[in-house]
Amino acid sequence: SAMKHPSVEQQLTVALRIRPINEAELEENAAIISHRVGDQMVVLMDPSEDPDDILRANRSREKTFIFDKVFDHKATQEKVYVSMTKNLVEGVISGFNATIFAYGPTGAGKTYTMLGTDCDPGIYIRTLNDLFKAIEATSDNMDYTVSMSYLEIYNEVIRDLLNPSSGFLDLREDARGSIQIAGITEVSTTNAQEIMQLLTKGNKERTQEPTAANKTSSRSHAILQVTVKQKSRVKNINEEVQVGRLFMVDLAGSERAAQTQNRGKRMKEGAHINRSLLALGNCISALSEKGGSRAQYVNFRDSKLTRLLKDSLGGNSRTVMIAHISPASIYFEESRTTLIYAYRAKNI
Ligand code: ADP
Ligand code: MG
Repeated sequence: SAMKHPSVEQQLTVALRIRPINEAELEENAAIISHRVGDQMVVLMDPSEDPDDILRANRSREKTFIFDKVFDHKATQEKVYVSMTKNLVEGVISGFNATIFAYGPTGAGKTYTMLGTDCDPGIYIRTLNDLFKAIEATSDNMDYTVSMSYLEIYNEVIRDLLNPSSGFLDLREDARGSIQIAGITEVSTTNAQEIMQLLTKGNKERTQEPTAANKTSSRSHAILQVTVKQKSRVKNINEEVQVGRLFMVDLAGSERAAQTQNRGKRMKEGAHINRSLLALGNCISALSEKGGSRAQYVNFRDSKLTRLLKDSLGGNSRTVMIAHISPASIYFEESRTTLIYAYRAKNI
C-alpha cells in the first residue's frame, strides 16, 4: 500500500517575499509600489503616470495577488524558514521528497533567502541544522546517512559545483527508475560550518554571465541536493533502505522569462527565455490542478531541471516556491511578471 506523507495538508505552497528597498533604488527616486496586506495578499501599484492615457486611467492601477504567504521587508530569515521549510524536514527523514525553489529576477533576493549571509544565514543551513537535529532525536532505532551535492544547470548543462573539473554530467535512471546524476560528488557531513564552507566554495564555481561581469550568474540554477538514507537497526524489521531527497534550488533570474506573453493556458516560449523556468512553471501548474488529473500530461522531459526533479514534484512530494520581488517602482515590470508566474503556478 502507498505510504502516506506524515503531514500532507498541502503539497504545493507558494509564497512571496518582498525585500527592503535599497540605496541604489532610492538614489533613482524609486517609490515603494508593493505592499503586503495581511498574511496572504500583496497589492502592486502601476507607477506609470500619464494623464493623457485615457485607456490606462480607466483601468485599475492596483493589482492584488493572493499567495499562501506574503513576507515583506520586516520578515526575518528565521521567520521565512520556519513558515516555509522547517516542516519539510520531518518528511525527508521519513523517506519523502521535497523541493524548495527561490524564484524571481536578479537582485530580488533569491540567494539571500537560500544562502543568506554569515550573520543572517538562509534556508540551506537552517534546514541542514534541523535535519541533523531531527536525526539525532530519532536515531535510537535507525541508521541514517546524510549526503549533499551542489550543482548548477546552465544552458541545459549540469555541472558539479563541488568538483567543477568533472565537466558536464548526465542524468540517468537507476534500476528502480529514479533519476540520478551520474558521477556527482556526494559529501557526507554532520557539521553546519563545513556545509557553509562547501557552499561558499561551490558558489565561486558558478558560471558567470559574460555580459554582466559583476553580477553573480543570473542564468544558472544552483541546486543543493540533500539525500537522507534510512535503515532500521532492529534486525529483520524493515530491511529496506528508505531514501528521502530534498532539493533546494536558487533559480536563474526570471527577467528573461518576463518577456513572455502570458496569455492562454501555457506560457509560450519566446526568443530568449530560460527553458527550465518555463518547463517548471508548466509542470508545477499542471500538478497543482485539482486531483492532479492532468498530471499525466506533465512533460518533465522539457528541461534538465524538471527531469532532475521528476521524482520530487507531485505524488507524495512537497513543493515550496518562494517568489521574490523588489518593492521599487523601477522594477514594476519584473515584479508584475514575477507575481503572475507565481500566482499561475498555484493555479488558483
Ligand atoms: P538574487 O539572488 O535574486 O539575484 P540577492 O539575494 O543577491 O538577489 O539580493 C540582492 C541584494 O539584496 C543582496 O545584497 C542581498 O543581500 C540584499 N537582500 C536581498 N533580500 C534581502 C532581505 N530580505 N533583507 C536584506 N537584504 C536583502
Ligand atoms: Mg542570486
